[in-house]
Amino acid sequence: MSAEFVVDLAALSANIRTVRERVAPAEAMLVVKDDAYRHGLDSVVSRAVAEGVTWFGALDVCTGVAVRALAPDARVFAWMLAGRDDVADALGARLDIGVGSAALLEDVAAVAQTRAVTADVHLKIDTGLHRNGVRPEEWPVFVDRAAQLEALGLVRVVGIWSHIGEASDADDDDARAVFDAAVAQARAAGLAPQKLHLAASAAAFARPEFRYDMVRIGAFHYGIRSADGPSEAELGLAIVGSLQAEVEKVGRKDTIIGAGYVTGLMSTAAGVLTAATPGGRLPVTEIAAETLRIPHWDNAEAGQVVTLFGTAPADSATDLAERLGTIGEEIVLRLASDLPRTYRA
Ligand SMILES: *Cc1c(COP(=O)(O)O)cnc(C)c1O
Repeated sequence: MSAEFVVDLAALSANIRTVRERVAPAEAMLVVKDDAYRHGLDSVVSRAVAEGVTWFGALDVCTGVAVRALAPDARVFAWMLAGRDDVADALGARLDIGVGSAALLEDVAAVAQTRAVTADVHLKIDTGLHRNGVRPEEWPVFVDRAAQLEALGLVRVVGIWSHIGEASDADDDDARAVFDAAVAQARAAGLAPQKLHLAASAAAFARPEFRYDMVRIGAFHYGIRSADGPSEAELGLAIVGSLQAEVEKVGRKDTIIGAGYVTGLMSTAAGVLTAATPGGRLPVTEIAAETLRIPHWDNAEAGQVVTLFGTAPADSATDLAERLGTIGEEIVLRLASDLPRTYRA
């Protein structure tokens, strides 16, 4: 097996700066869930700290604890917690906790009391995705309870947030109206949240009114554009990760690449994916468990490197995703966890 995911940390740095300028004066949280979208949590967080990133989005507590170890002074946001053990670990690592249910709010308060600390929480209103979040009809009681717990010193309501679909402007506008109403109700309940955050990559770039105090950006930091959206050049972003593999042997009709399912490329990508080879852009014609096939090119020889997706002239992850009816994140998340990574400074 000769495939590797090559991660260009200079491109990550450039994207961090581009995002920061684009969304200012809002702050940008760097979302690093799923092992930093498979780019490698340790390297991505370390580089981001050096670039002055002050907020990280971890998703789960385990990731949050790992980020804390790398970024002692940053704010680290986790929003998928299950029960009091998770809450205890989150408080132990000084994480900001996303609270999307009344039950979790009680768990946070109980653990904070036991540990004699004040938990930093961000209350989540369900603005229509129905994934998690407090429904609008339950929100007034929820924010009253949060205000009580704040008065007791058990929680500090730092933020109010939600997540939107970013698939249609009309749906996002509806979600934003629900969000604004929820913020007004929270203020009426006596809360004074300093960090309102709603948008992820696409809305943060395209729709200034969605930025509020902070935006949570994953995909664009890695140079993964939205399917059917503006190009990387239009966004001013650089692709960070490229999937590369070596020629294993040269057959009479085609070239055999020593990489198979570890690349996460399914057989359905055969005939759809165009690789960048020393002989130019060529289609990947077959994807099997341990090998891929590309038509023969002049002077092909074992050891030559091809880029299966990533930086031009190869297809980007999103180019491939569009042809397969999915999104670029899905292509990188399918990379096998044991696929080696190499880093370019
Ligand atoms: C993944 C995620 C993000 C980042 O989304 P991108 O589209 O990758 O920028 C933001 N917020 C939440 C809650 C997420 O789960």
